[in-house]
Amino acid sequence: MTDLLTPHGAHREAWRCLQCWDAPCTAACPVHVPIPEFIARLRGADPQGAEELVRSANPLISTCGEICPDEQYCARACVLRGVEGPIRVRELHRFVTETAHAPWPTWTASRSKRVAVVGGGPAGIACARELAALGYAVDVYERDTAAGGIVRHNLAVDRFAVDRLDRDLSALHGAPIAWHLGQAAGSLREILAAHAAAFYAPGTHEDILLGIPDEEGLVTSGMAFLREWRDGIGKDLTGKEVVVIGGGNVSLDVTLTAVHAGAARVVLVYRRGPREMPVWRRELEEAATRGVAIEYYARPIALLVEAGRIRGVQCRRTRLVDQGARRPVPEDMPGFDFVLPAEEVIRAVGSSPARDEDVDLRWGSKATLPVSERMETAAPSLFAGGDLVSREGTVVAAASHGLRAARAIHHMLTEAAR
Ligand SMILES: Cc1cc2nc3c(=O)[nH]c(=O)nc-3n(C[C@H](O)[C@H](O)[C@H](O)COP(=O)(O)OP(=O)(O)OC[C@H]3O[C@@H](n4cnc5c(N)ncnc54)[C@H](O)[C@@H]3O)c2cc1C
Ligand code: SF4
Repeated sequence: MTDLLTPHGAHREAWRCLQCWDAPCTAACPVHVPIPEFIARLRGADPQGAEELVRSANPLISTCGEICPDEQYCARACVLRGVEGPIRVRELHRFVTETAHAPWPTWTASRSKRVAVVGGGPAGIACARELAALGYAVDVYERDTAAGGIVRHNLAVDRFAVDRLDRDLSALHGAPIAWHLGQAAGSLREILAAHAAAFYAPGTHEDILLGIPDEEGLVTSGMAFLREWRDGIGKDLTGKEVVVIGGGNVSLDVTLTAVHAGAARVVLVYRRGPREMPVWRRELEEAATRGVAIEYYARPIALLVEAGRIRGVQCRRTRLVDQGARRPVPEDMPGFDFVLPAEEVIRAVGSSPARDEDVDLRWGSKATLPVSERMETAAPSLFAGGDLVSREGTVVAAASHGLRAARAIHHMLTEAAR
């Protein structure tokens, strides 16, 4: 977790901003936070106004103030990036949402129509907030006993304090949203029949397997491992040698949590090289600081098991081959195998969505559900968003889908009423 800016630091950061008329930072933010206006309110000693403005643009702003990968969005676009460093907008969000204490908005359900939201993760929360702000009564169906999705249950414990998410949810207090918690949504067909429209955002929660012998029962799921630590029942790894298989941000959260769990040594095995690793620099640096080793250009091919317990992982060297694809493809180098000692092997190579076959969503062969620009699916009145429809995999991207879908639903319902 990063340190909170001091009032002096926030003041200095706000006054460094050049207030660019074309705001490339705003254009680069998926929810288009009006950054120059936000900063102008801070400069004008109106922190509450600044909080109201960012919260209205991003219902997950307290969460994003901690974990938004700004390096791929607003900070990357800041004209000061190559001069004296980008404006620390994310940290300003955090400063404002933790210190301003703007009053929560008031709500009225002014429309008779009900809209359903399936999944209470970032995409669902953002959609529900926007629909409520537009005056609709909303039913959110969430199979867990609390809303928040991955942000509540799967982030590394050392990296995110869940009270930020709770603050975002508190801002919805009094909104015309019925939270059906602990209630997995049943048939999409029935939900659509009972509502004017629905937004479908169940995320992707089916573990992708490594495909090696004995995997099931011996290799731990990274998402389950992270969740157990969040739930306070995490596996103690004191003194153990741990091998994590993966290469994205999720695998880094797993390595950090394994260190937190007391592992003596943590090695991440990745089949490509450092340049191909799809991770945020901040997370990679944190893992390096915490002593995580990375074995690049390798993949597991077998587990070494004695008396039902893992003793090591046999890995095969890979090399990258350009086959004209978006990224070079890893190819095995037989004869270059090696063994990593391990007592615990954790898999974090991705997840895929559970496919709902109740309505025809025209899935096709892709791992993500196809939707239009307005987040419409192939089924009438059914919209979708979040990780289900995109591999961008960030809270702010999921929030942007939810907001876009809510506005498209409003447009559809008001057009139909004319
Ligand atoms: C380990 C990890 C670390 C990450 N770190 C970051 C980070 O630092 N910064 C960042 O911006 N992003 C991060 N992400 C990505 C981010 O968490 C996701 O992109 C985001 O949570 C996606 O939101 P979502 O609403 O689409 O899905 P989810 O968060 O998965 O929420 C979906 C919700 O739907 C519910 N659901 C599923 N099926 C049903 C059903 N049938 N009925 C009712 N409810 C259902 C689930 O219980 C869940 O609560 C991370 C992801 C992981 C896995
Ligand atoms: S939500 Fe993220 S991308 Fe958007 S302005 Fe804030 S830190 Fe930048």
